[in-house]
Amino acid sequence: MGFRPFICRLASQHGLLGEVDNRTDGVYVIVQGDIKSVDRFSNDILQFAPPASHIKSIEINTTQFTGFDCFRIAESKAVDNQITEISPDIAVCKDCLSDMENDPQRINYPFTNCTNCGPRFSIINGLPYDRPNTTMKSFRMCERCSSEYNNILDRRFHAQPVACNSCGPVYRYKYSAKSLINLKEILAEVSLQIMSGKTVAVKGIGGYFLMCDALNNDAVKELRKRKHRDAKPFAVMFRNISAVKKFCFLNKEEEEEITSWRRPILVLGQKEILSPDVSNGLNTTGAMLPYMPFHYLLFRSIKTPAVVLTSGNISDDPIIIDDHLAEKELFKITGSLLSYNRQIENRTDDSVIRIIDHKPSVIRRSRGYVPRPVDLKSDVEGILALGAEQKNNFCIGKGNQAVLSQYIGDLKNAATFDFFSETIEKFSKLFRFKPAFIACDLHPDYRSTHYAEVIGGNLNIPLIRVQHHHAHIASCLAEYGLDREVIGVSLDGTGFGSDGNIWGGEFLIAGQEGFKRYSHFDYVPLPGGDKAITRPWKMAFSYLYKYFGDSFDFRSVPSFRSIDDRELILVKEMIEKKINSPLTSGAGRLFDAVSSILGLCAFETFDSEAPMRLESAVDFKTKEFYTFSATENLNFSETFKGILGDLKNKSVSYISTKFHNTVAQAILEISEQIREETKLDNVVLSGGVFQNKYLLEKSMELLSGNRFKVYTNHLVPANDGGISLGQLLIASKIRG
Ligand code: ZN
Ligand code: ZN
Ligand code: FE
Repeated sequence: MGFRPFICRLASQHGLLGEVDNRTDGVYVIVQGDIKSVDRFSNDILQFAPPASHIKSIEINTTQFTGFDCFRIAESKAVDNQITEISPDIAVCKDCLSDMENDPQRINYPFTNCTNCGPRFSIINGLPYDRPNTTMKSFRMCERCSSEYNNILDRRFHAQPVACNSCGPVYRYKYSAKSLINLKEILAEVSLQIMSGKTVAVKGIGGYFLMCDALNNDAVKELRKRKHRDAKPFAVMFRNISAVKKFCFLNKEEEEEITSWRRPILVLGQKEILSPDVSNGLNTTGAMLPYMPFHYLLFRSIKTPAVVLTSGNISDDPIIIDDHLAEKELFKITGSLLSYNRQIENRTDDSVIRIIDHKPSVIRRSRGYVPRPVDLKSDVEGILALGAEQKNNFCIGKGNQAVLSQYIGDLKNAATFDFFSETIEKFSKLFRFKPAFIACDLHPDYRSTHYAEVIGGNLNIPLIRVQHHHAHIASCLAEYGLDREVIGVSLDGTGFGSDGNIWGGEFLIAGQEGFKRYSHFDYVPLPGGDKAITRPWKMAFSYLYKYFGDSFDFRSVPSFRSIDDRELILVKEMIEKKINSPLTSGAGRLFDAVSSILGLCAFETFDSEAPMRLESAVDFKTKEFYTFSATENLNFSETFKGILGDLKNKSVSYISTKFHNTVAQAILEISEQIREETKLDNVVLSGGVFQNKYLLEKSMELLSGNRFKVYTNHLVPANDGGISLGQLLIASKIRG
C-alpha cells in the first residue's frame, strides 16, 4: 500500500529516471542514472519503506537502458485477482503527528492521515480501493487536500482517506443533555469525565469502545457493572512507552511489537498493578499504545498514564459500529458518547498478541492484521472454510493465499452470527469470491456447520467436514508450508471427535490429508455437559471420582468445602447414571480441575478463567513434575495423588508449576513413543491450551532438547481462531 508512490518519490529524490510497476510476483522497478545514486536508492528502499509494507527480498539486475525522461508509475493492468491491494488499518504515523503540530491546515486535526497511515480495511466497501468505495465518499476534498492527493511527490498521493480541518470528518461529543462539536471543548470535557471517574463511550477505528481511568478502581468497578462484565481482564491503553515500562515488563521483542504500526494489545507481564480491578488477580496486563490521532490529543489533556479501553458492546454481542445503536445502547449506560461522522464499514476489534519463544503469536487477529492474507504453498482458490463456533473467523481461498476474516466471536450469540453471515457476503464482494468448495467443522450442531450445509445445498457445491483437532494441526502446517506427516499435539477445551466424544487432549499422527489418533488424555465424564465448563469444581469432582472412586473424601479438599452437599450428590449421580455426562478428553478440563483443587477458580466468571489463573500462579523455578502413566491413554491418577499430597504443605505456585511441567513431560513422552514407532520427529503444537505461555515454552524446550523439531502457530491463533485456516488447507488437499 502506497509502495509505488514511495518508490516514485525516492527515485526523484535521487535524481533517477525510470518506472515502477506492480506485478503479481512483486514490485518491478527500473531506474536509470549513475551507479552511486542507484546504490543509495536501493539502500534507502529498505531503510525508508512505508511501515505497513513488508519487503521479503530485493533482487538487483543491471542492464543497458535509455529512454526515460521522468520517473513514472506504470499503468495498472487488469488486477482482477489481485487482493494485496486492501491494507489493514494503520496507526497514525510520526509525520502526521508532526503535521498536527505544524501544518496550519491540520493543527490538532484528529483525522490526519497519509499513504503511510490511517484507516483502510475499516472504511472500504468495494474495489478498487478508491475514495468512492470507502466511507470517505461523502467528504469532498478541499483544494489543498485534492492537490496533495494528486501530486505524486506528496506524502498524501492517493491516500484515500486524506482530509483536513476544512474538509474532513469531525468529532461530536454528547453528554447529559449537551452536545459539543468544538474539539478543544470536547477534549476538556472528556478529560474531566475520565478524571472524575466516569466512563466515556468512544468511537474508535473499528468500533466503539468504553474508556475510563485505569488507575481509579471505583471507575473500573463501575465500568464492569455497567458493561455486565464480571471479571474478565480489561485491556489498557498507556500514554507512551515509558508508562508501559513503569507498569509492565517489556523485552526487546515486546517493545518492537507494541510500537509497531499495527498497534495490537500485547499481553505483558505485570510489574506494577494499575487499579486491581483491571486484571483481576492475573499477573498479566493487556497493554497497547495510542494509535488514533485522537488518542494522542486526549493524553495531552488528561493526567492519568493509562485508560481502560474495552470494546463497546453489551454482554457477548459484537462490538458496536453503528452510530444509532451506540446512542441507544452505550449512551444509555455511560451518559456520554464521543462519536465522529465517518461510518465504520468493517468491524474490527483490537488484535491481541503475546510474544512466545521470542516471536509474536497472535491470539485475536483483527485490526492491523486483517485482511492481509497468509501465503500458502497450496492452491486454495474457491474454498470457503467456515471455522469453528467460539472465537470464530472464516477464511476464503484466493490462489495460493488464505484471506482470514477478522475475529468474529461466539456464533451461539445471534447478533454475532449475523455479523458472521454479513461478513461472508462482504468478503465475497470485496475479494470477488465465489465459493466452489466448502469446509466446516465435524460438529453437527455448530452454527457454522448449519450455515455450510445451507449454502452448500443452495449452490450445489461439495462440502467437507473436518475434525476439529486435525484442523488445529493443519493450521500450523499451513503456516509453515509443511506437507508431510507430523506428530500433532492438539490440546484445547472442546472439539467434536470422530467417535462422537468430546476431544481436546489429542496426540495425532497427522498430515494435510488425514490423521490417526495415537493417544489422548483419559476420558472423564463432563457432568452437565457444556455447562460444566464454567464450573471447574465439577471437573475436579469428575477426575477425583474417576481415579479414586466413591470412597474418596471430597471434604478433605479445601476447595470443595464451599460446595453444597446436595450439589456434590447431584453431580455424583449424574456421573454414575450417565445422565447428561458426555465423555471428554479435553485438556482444558484437566486444567480446570487442577485450578479448582488449588482453590484458584471453582466457578468461572469468564471464558478460560480457571486455566488462566492456574498459569498466573506459576512462578516457581522447579523442574519437577508429577508421575503419570502414558502406557495406554494418558492417565493422571498419580498426578492427582501427588497434587493432593503437596496441597498439605506446598505452595500453590509450586504445585501449579509442577503440574504444568507434568503436561509438558507427557507431551515429550508420547512424542517419543510415536517417534519410536514411526520415525517422525516433527512435532506440531496447536490448540487453545497452547496460549499458555509457560506450558508452550516448557514443551518446546523439552522437545527441542530431545532432538524434535517443533512448530507452533504465530500467524493465526492457536485457539479456535486458527481452525478456518486448517480447514482450508485440508479441503484443498482432499479436493486434489
Ligand atoms: Zn501518516
Ligand atoms: Zn482538506
Ligand atoms: Fe479448539
